[in-house]
This record gives sequence, C-alpha cells and structure tokens, in this order.
Amino acid sequence: MERTLSIIKPDGVGRGLIGEVIKKLENSDIKIIAMKMLQMTKNQAKGFYAVHKERPFFDSLTDFMTSGPVVVMVLEAENVITKYRELMGATNYKEAEEGTIRRDFATDIEKNVVHGSDSQESASFEIGYFFNSFEIV
Ligand code: UDP
Ligand code: MG
Repeated sequence: MERTLSIIKPDGVGRGLIGEVIKKLENSDIKIIAMKMLQMTKNQAKGFYAVHKERPFFDSLTDFMTSGPVVVMVLEAENVITKYRELMGATNYKEAEEGTIRRDFATDIEKNVVHGSDSQESASFEIGYFFNSFEIV
C-alpha cells in the first residue's frame, strides 16, 4: 500500500467541485484515509511549493493557493501516486485525457482544481506538512 497527498485547490472548492472530485475517488479503488478543509497563509503555500521557488509561476501559484479554502486529503491504494496522477490528468488540462479531473473541470494551467504528490519523497513530505499520525485513519 502507498499513500499520497491530494489537494482540492481554491478554484475547485470555490466552484463547488468537492463532490465531483470525491465521486471520482470513490468510483476508483482509492481510499480517503484523512481529510480536512483549511486556508493556507502565503508562507505556508511557499513552504509547500518550495521545490518550485525558482519557477516563474511561483508567486502567482502561491497567491492562488492562498486565495480561498482548500480540501487536503491523504489517499491510499496500491501504486496510488501514479494512479491518482492518472485520475487528475496532465498539469495543462488541454493535454489531459478524457474523463480525468483536470480535463473535466480545469479552466487554466494554474487553476487546475487538484494537486497530487509526484513521488514517494514528496508524498511523505506533503502528508507530514498537513497531517499528524492521529488524523490519519
Ligand atoms: N503551474 C502553473 N504554470 C505552469 C506549470 C504549473 O501555474 O506552467 C501551476 C499549476 O497549478 C500546477 C502547479 O503549478 O498544478 C505545480 O506545478 P507542477 O509542475 O508540479 O504540476 P502538477 O504536479 O500539479 O501537475
Ligand atoms: Mg507537482
């Protein structure tokens, strides 16, 4: 079993897409084992996305991620890091496969509804960033 961190981003929460994302998860074999809503500060978003700090989109991305509440979840399944990234679709929704979350719901390369960890190292950092062991069932 593997774990990953998912975030429903401020655009997804604001546009009423929490249920749509959760429906796609519950229609797959991926289990939600922790979940909460919160709004990040700019510094919290900068810490979360520290790997991207040199990228041109960093300031805009961290502004966007603090613009409203997000839903953070820990997901569990076999091979869930890859599996959930497949369910999300490509970063650029125009390149995402049909039926993926981003293809169905994203409106912009930045406002792409969801985040998912991209490796075991990032999953373990990102899960620990938002959850302690008592919050994971
Ligand atoms: N992003 C952006 N412009 C880009 C690339 C990425 O605004 O050219 C944003 C987008 O919200 C993306 C996030 O930055 O989800 C993190 O980028 P990453 O390359 O890690 O994509 P992801 O892993 O989310 O698919
Ligand atoms: Mg990424």
